[in-house]
Amino acid sequence: MSWLGVKGAERAADILAESWRRGRFPHALAFVGPHGVGKRTFARGLAQAILCEARAPGSLAACGLCPGCVQVAGDTHPDLLEVERPQDKQDLPVQTVRELCDWFALKPMRGPGKFAILDDADHLTTEASNAFLKTLEEPPPGAILVLIASAVEILLPTILSRCQVVRFESLPIPVVTELLIERGLAGDHAEATRLAALGEGSAAKSILLADPEVGRFRRGLIDQLGAAEGFSPPELAARMLAFFRQAGKESLEHRRRGVLIVGELTRFFRSALETGLGLDPARPDPDDAPASSALAADHTPEDLVALIERCLLAEYQIERRLYLPLVVESFAHDLGGVLNRGRELTLATTP
Ligand SMILES: [Zn+2]
Repeated sequence: MSWLGVKGAERAADILAESWRRGRFPHALAFVGPHGVGKRTFARGLAQAILCEARAPGSLAACGLCPGCVQVAGDTHPDLLEVERPQDKQDLPVQTVRELCDWFALKPMRGPGKFAILDDADHLTTEASNAFLKTLEEPPPGAILVLIASAVEILLPTILSRCQVVRFESLPIPVVTELLIERGLAGDHAEATRLAALGEGSAAKSILLADPEVGRFRRGLIDQLGAAEGFSPPELAARMLAFFRQAGKESLEHRRRGVLIVGELTRFFRSALETGLGLDPARPDPDDAPASSALAADHTPEDLVALIERCLLAEYQIERRLYLPLVVESFAHDLGGVLNRGRELTLATTP
């Protein structure tokens, strides 16, 4: 694991390395940027560099071999704490923040300092944010805290003003293309480029879309919603939910897949809207064109805007961890309400 090796974050790495060299390293950092561009990986790499017991003074290059480095890589370093929003919670509980502050107040076990990563800082409540302020204002010597969030607007100004903000941008398409090829996730260069474009600068999203099962489901869903025949909303809901649940055992995996697929529908409806308005739609997957043109021909721009808004609401609800079966059922119902209008219904599979 090398923090310097996180693609697209070379500039951030340079700035941090320079401030370390000058002895001006900040005690609190906020890594802000879109999901899936490597913020957490970068934070872990930085933790390893700082907790490395064999690096040259003034350098932030982890050796990768000393006990400190090995423990960070193995998630067993006693002076590294990583916390995130619990799976079943909509917010980061104040209790989590208090525990983190208590942990910071204790002396380091191995080295001169302690390092904590707080992911999902977007979901800090005001109460939880306030619980942080004392630790942020008077950090124990050698303590470094990294908050990870998707947008600065979401963090409270009182938190932001005490952190050095490091911005992460969406990754350039060629960087993600290369990463997909390196990891053997795309059959050829053209496929890697298509997946990278679909990911819109998020490596994590491109990697999820590279799963052949996801690709097949996405294709089938878009073609079905663009087809001239109507569909049964309960059947669609059941199919979507089953597919989300196939992503793994954890509800986090179901939701991640849910957000991914609903996000793909948002893009699909958007491209239909742009087609209908005579614009040149951004359409990273050329195979979406027939369904998107058919939808544009069958529906008014108002309908398509309503569909896009409905997708955004579903994405928000899934992110907010509302009960997934209900979110999906009402989503499919509302899609049907717009899309089935004037279509011939095929309701053979309605339970
Ligand atoms: Zn080391």
